Amino acid sequence: MIQHRPRWISYGNWGCANHIPMAKIPSTVTSCWYCGTDRPAIDLRPAAPPRAYGQPRDQVLPEMSGGLCAWEGCKNPTTTQSKYCSRKCSNNNARARAAARKEQSPENAAPLAESAE
Ligand SMILES: [Zn+2]
Ligand SMILES: [Zn+2]
Repeated sequence: MIQHRPRWISYGNWGCANHIPMAKIPSTVTSCWYCGTDRPAIDLRPAAPPRAYGQPRDQVLPEMSGGLCAWEGCKNPTTTQSKYCSRKCSNNNARARAAARKEQSPENAAPLAESAE
């Protein structure tokens, strides 16, 4: 029986080509759910996508931002203590960053990767 070689689709997924359409398997899973084919070598995995957004905004210091709230879409002036106009915007930003971080590490999404802490 001919075995099709599995291959990486992206940083977060690899594909088992024994199926039509090709089975898409998370990078944290080491063998195909359907046929048991081993994951392709981890060193062939594509690099993690670059952080496209969030970065430049974080580097803007309050003094340089023109006194406007750093939360995207908020046009209120900042307080003197913070780069946000209010605690609400600060919290919004913290939550958005936490969510973005979670999305970028597939390990956190894997059911078996839960740690005891
Ligand atoms: Zn398979
Ligand atoms: Zn604001």
